[in-house]
Amino acid sequence: MYHTPVLKNRRTLLERAEKFVSDIYFTDCNLRGRLYGETHPLESVSSFMSSKRITFSEAQTKKFSPYKIGDNFGPTWWTCWFKIALKIPSSWNGKEVHLLWESDGEAMVWRDDQPVQGLSKEGEKTSYILSNCLTEEEEHTVNVYVELACNGLFGAGQGSTIAAPDPNKKFSVQKAELVVFNRHVRELLTDFEMLIGIVKELGDNEQRSFQALFTVNEMVNVSNPADPSSFSKAHALAHNFFSQRNGQSQHTVHAMGHCHIDSAWLWPYEETIRKCARSWVTAIRLMEKNPEFVFTCSQAQQFEWVKNWYPGLFSEIQHFVKLGKFIPVGGTWVEMDGNLPSGESMVRQFLEGQNFFEQHFEKKCKEFWLPDTFGYSAQLPQIMKGSGISNFLTQKLSWNLVNTFPHSSFFWEGLDGSIVLTHFPPGNSYGMIGKVEDLVKTVKQNKDKGRVNHSAMLFGFGDGGGGPTQLMLDRLRRVQDTDGLPKVKMTSPDELFSQLWADSHLLCTWTGELFLELHNGTYTTQAQIKRSNRQCETLLHDIEIASSLALHHDKTFQYPVAKLRELWRLLLLNQFHDVIPGTCIEMVVEDALRYYEDINRTGAALLQISLSALSKGDTTGVFNSLPWERLEVLHLHDGPAEHGLVLVRVPSIGLSPIQDTKPQVPVCLTVQADGSVLMENGILQTVVNKDGTLASLCLMNANREAISDGCGGNQFVIFDDVPLYWDAWDVMDYHLQTRKPVVEVVKPVHVLSSHELRGSVSFTLRISGNSTITQEIVMDAMSPYIKFNTQVNWFESHKFLKVEFPVRVHSPNATYEIQFGHLQRPTHRNTSWDWARFEVWGHKWADLSEHNFGVALLNDSKYGYSVYKNTMTLSLLRAPKAPDANADMGTHNFTYAIMPHTGSFQDATVIQCAYNLNFPLRLTSCSPDMVPWSAFSISPASVILETVKQAENRKGALVIRLYEAHGGGVSVTLRSMLPVKNAWHCDLLEQIDTTQPLQVTKDGINLNFNAFQVRSLLLDYV
Ligand SMILES: [Zn+2]
Repeated sequence: MYHTPVLKNRRTLLERAEKFVSDIYFTDCNLRGRLYGETHPLESVSSFMSSKRITFSEAQTKKFSPYKIGDNFGPTWWTCWFKIALKIPSSWNGKEVHLLWESDGEAMVWRDDQPVQGLSKEGEKTSYILSNCLTEEEEHTVNVYVELACNGLFGAGQGSTIAAPDPNKKFSVQKAELVVFNRHVRELLTDFEMLIGIVKELGDNEQRSFQALFTVNEMVNVSNPADPSSFSKAHALAHNFFSQRNGQSQHTVHAMGHCHIDSAWLWPYEETIRKCARSWVTAIRLMEKNPEFVFTCSQAQQFEWVKNWYPGLFSEIQHFVKLGKFIPVGGTWVEMDGNLPSGESMVRQFLEGQNFFEQHFEKKCKEFWLPDTFGYSAQLPQIMKGSGISNFLTQKLSWNLVNTFPHSSFFWEGLDGSIVLTHFPPGNSYGMIGKVEDLVKTVKQNKDKGRVNHSAMLFGFGDGGGGPTQLMLDRLRRVQDTDGLPKVKMTSPDELFSQLWADSHLLCTWTGELFLELHNGTYTTQAQIKRSNRQCETLLHDIEIASSLALHHDKTFQYPVAKLRELWRLLLLNQFHDVIPGTCIEMVVEDALRYYEDINRTGAALLQISLSALSKGDTTGVFNSLPWERLEVLHLHDGPAEHGLVLVRVPSIGLSPIQDTKPQVPVCLTVQADGSVLMENGILQTVVNKDGTLASLCLMNANREAISDGCGGNQFVIFDDVPLYWDAWDVMDYHLQTRKPVVEVVKPVHVLSSHELRGSVSFTLRISGNSTITQEIVMDAMSPYIKFNTQVNWFESHKFLKVEFPVRVHSPNATYEIQFGHLQRPTHRNTSWDWARFEVWGHKWADLSEHNFGVALLNDSKYGYSVYKNTMTLSLLRAPKAPDANADMGTHNFTYAIMPHTGSFQDATVIQCAYNLNFPLRLTSCSPDMVPWSAFSISPASVILETVKQAENRKGALVIRLYEAHGGGVSVTLRSMLPVKNAWHCDLLEQIDTTQPLQVTKDGINLNFNAFQVRSLLLDYV
């Protein structure tokens, strides 16, 4: 075949081919230089600037002024609208004609009042196809609009991508003209590029690499760039190579178009709406031309945005969803953070998501899709299964800094034993581009070689949107079955997972959480977002319970279905994987905090309405939304006593008028000679040093000291916190070497209040010249824990504030609350898997226990913990400068609590105490002679009734959700004063399971739970 002698010089042959298609070198005589033919200027370009994101119809009414190509416009976040008049020369008939548009920013082309295509230089989309083959009949005079957002795919970082945005960036259009596009040149270039890829990727040990090398070399020999008639010969050589097929055993790569769009990150939510439209309309254009193309698309919220803002585009999407080309995936409202949202929030992600997909696309998702989240809770498998999902796709653990995760395809077993089939695309990316390199990586990095012969490859520009391109599709089409490369099949996730299930007998199982060994600062960054999330989760919980009870108490009460859905959706949106972790720009933080304000304001009103439907009168009552009786000190503004304090007892999920109860033992404070203060309540006794540290914390009935010998509890410590790159995301292991106790006392400890129901002391410390801590240590009568109400004025740079409790407990493991349960992590650093978890996440509590004694650390708004040996540490505040230069600067209020206990933390009611700290008793009005009542109670207490809400699709019926919280199987009785007629088990999507009928007796409903099992019941009422 190769008639002329070819010397054995691999390098020159390869480089010769590379130069033949280079867009830098020899473009005067190489193939690349022939990609575009003739050009023709536009008739006219005019523009106007808008500071707001406006609709197309509004834009049309504006006054456009002439725009000269190359002129600057801006600033960042504005929109430049262009009106373009163009006239295609009639001499171009028979040619493919493009509008070539090279500009900064992200653009959308509008034609005939409809969005038709996205343009973005970064996303390799710089031309809008006016005609594939111009005919005489086609309109040669065309008007289009271009809506250009003054931000890049990745926002507008000043200097580096993740730096805070530069608000004054200038933008320009560098090129805008009509061109003849030489499709046959493009096709031949792609042949060359794929063959060169094979030469390089397979390397000089592979026969196939040399075959590709000689093929491209001969293709250069036979091609004459100046004579297109020579191309068919070269193309035939390539075609011959690509058509040499694999054997039967070759790996199959399931290629799926994808476009990861962060719902907000380095740009605000509002821009994401346009990103979705730009990316998805482009995907639709590709679908029209490439029948094999499939596009996977997650996040119901983004579909909802497009439905509202681009109804025409949404109808097109619905059409292609029906055809199985546009594939909604994931089943959730947004791709949420996998660690921080509560159990109920995670359920609602699926409930809102799956309901949306069912309603608008007539199908539910079969796979959970979360490629870009910073770790995955051990409770997720159970929540997925309960939402009709058995498959899970992610890849983020490939970012682990310390340990390599050992599997690509495996069974993931959750906290309760639920199992889902999990796949990490072995290419370790959700934004591949279809090059040979991507395919080879996908095969080589597969950690389950020989066990499975299928894996996924997600292709398309992502994070900031963009998605697949025609070039990516052309690349993949060439090598569907080419000897030496994996087979490539354009398929749906469903087909991939079906293959994996069919092939699953050799797969391994990973049990417990998928912990990401990176981004561990995200448990702490943007404290206000995290605090608001916790408070809003609590508020929505209380509204739903109070409204559900009101529904049965007052027949005129309207359950606020629509408003609650709206509030839940705002909360779920803010749980997006760059918002609740605090890794977004300041604009997003402002949006997020505004949404939380909306939830708080509207939520407070809804709660008030439901509580007043429950009881009315001229005396004060107390509502308890938690499923156990509570005895707590409350502060009333207009209470019976001057100090405003009362000790109240309120039944489980119930209401009681205020009846001032006397404590068994009053709180007693004694200022000691050295200035320290002794605080006692009959349960605990503590000595607070002048600097606010605890010299002692004694559990009185057991006579056990909780604080380690020679140490102080409640020790604030500060660390240098300079990560390697990902500022808001990462705290690195080496920060631990920079620990400094906060010791400068501004105001030593002094008694703030001394009452038989509540004693408190306060002190102030200086962290630095800029920052201070003021804390109130509160001891309540009858309370088994001490509260630390903390205010920090925080103006630091790259510092990390934590508080430590060195305790007298020896245990190899500490326990952390997670969604609907808890798990253990080591307190030692034996192996790399142990020390990689130097900073971990937990929810309302963590506990360190040895046999018969332990200490729990509770909190009302924090998520970062570490327990090393016997020191329990709660992470409080960070000060990263990117992507939000002002992250966490200002005043913060938060509360944590310390609770020593005997026995296990389960028996010591640590779980209940942490709930109590987070769910305040709510004041309401009632009549003075009201008898206290309880709507629901459960015994034994190891099962927690977490949620009571109106059923989604059954008016008047309630759905309640319970979970086993102690980690052991149990049989419980649920009692309700409401007249339950029928009860069913249902799944998390509230679909009734008729196979497991429930008996309602006068004693209640008996239920069996396995360890950490979550159960939902649907209750019909008389
Ligand atoms: Zn992302």
